[in-house]
Amino acid sequence: MSADSPTLALTRELISRRSLTPDDAGCCALIGERLARLGFQLEWLDREGVTNLWATLGPGSPLMILAGHTDVVPTGPLERWSSDPFQPQVRDGLLYGRGAADMKSGLAAMVCAVERLLGETPLKGSLAFLITSDEEGMARHGTKYVAEVLRARGIRPDYAIVGEASSHLRLGDRIVVGRRGSLGCNLRVHGRQGHVAYPHKADNPIHRLAPVLAELVATEWDRGNASFPPTSLQISNVHAGTGANNVNPAEADVVFNFRYCTESTAESLKARVHAVLDRHLPRYEADWWHTGEPFLTRQGRLIEAAQAAIGEITGLRAEQFTGGGTSDARFIAPLDTEVVEIGPINDSIHKIDEHVSVEDLETLSRIYQNILARLLGTHR
Ligand SMILES: [Zn+2]
Repeated sequence: MSADSPTLALTRELISRRSLTPDDAGCCALIGERLARLGFQLEWLDREGVTNLWATLGPGSPLMILAGHTDVVPTGPLERWSSDPFQPQVRDGLLYGRGAADMKSGLAAMVCAVERLLGETPLKGSLAFLITSDEEGMARHGTKYVAEVLRARGIRPDYAIVGEASSHLRLGDRIVVGRRGSLGCNLRVHGRQGHVAYPHKADNPIHRLAPVLAELVATEWDRGNASFPPTSLQISNVHAGTGANNVNPAEADVVFNFRYCTESTAESLKARVHAVLDRHLPRYEADWWHTGEPFLTRQGRLIEAAQAAIGEITGLRAEQFTGGGTSDARFIAPLDTEVVEIGPINDSIHKIDEHVSVEDLETLSRIYQNILARLLGTHR
């Protein structure tokens, strides 16, 4: 067995720190130590039990951010893991452990990429790391907060790479250039309970709801665009009834969720839903929750550099992807920053026996280095 590569060694060290959201468990301190040795200035923007590291090198332009999170999701039943999720283990060319793919390997690959880059080329521009321990939870005090601080200081990063697991079947086959927004609603329709034999003495909320659901389901919210599929609404829960077959209930409850593209906004969707509700329902309550704005990065130098780097190192033509859930890139993009997510294969994230290919670790690090060299150095 050969010795661990630098990226594998650092990924192992990070996995062995039990960093369940929002506990960073010393991951940022470890990374910060490595960055400080390279001359980075460390600034701790901790808040509400969340660790946030903002580390910068150089005053020049352009400014590139390397971003990620140290927190991991819970393991699930330990007895179902083939090895301890916080004791990294390599088996058959795969590194196992919680956070192996999401996203301690991405962070390790970024740190090692910068270490090599600075040893090889003078930097034209500046580099920053934005690392948080609050991505997998509510994500209120992590990247979102640091982005607010940057905005208040008038800092407008030119580029950002988020090291989330973006790849599908092979490392580098996909980069994420946008994400849909998420908007949900708990709707309660009020009526009046009564005997089914005397409907004129009751007010059946299910009957009031029926045309509302039909209309919501039939509505075309938008047609999508070249980068996104059309906005979709899904009704995920409908509850009504007392259980008795001769009683009209007093209330009916519905839960629905929009996954929306950049052709709509949360406000426009809410207004259109309320127009439908107001037309059909005399009494209702709509309780909205908005968990993410959509973003789509512009087609600029970062995507160009990312595709060229991936092509050079893996031979693949990376597909630009906008599917999946939400990520912290949504907080960075509004700073008018070009942002892409590039990272390992995502098929085991959040699962039992999460893993990453050992070979991919060093390849990913070389992809990051190549992108940085194209945008901030002298790419040969
Ligand atoms: Zn993640």
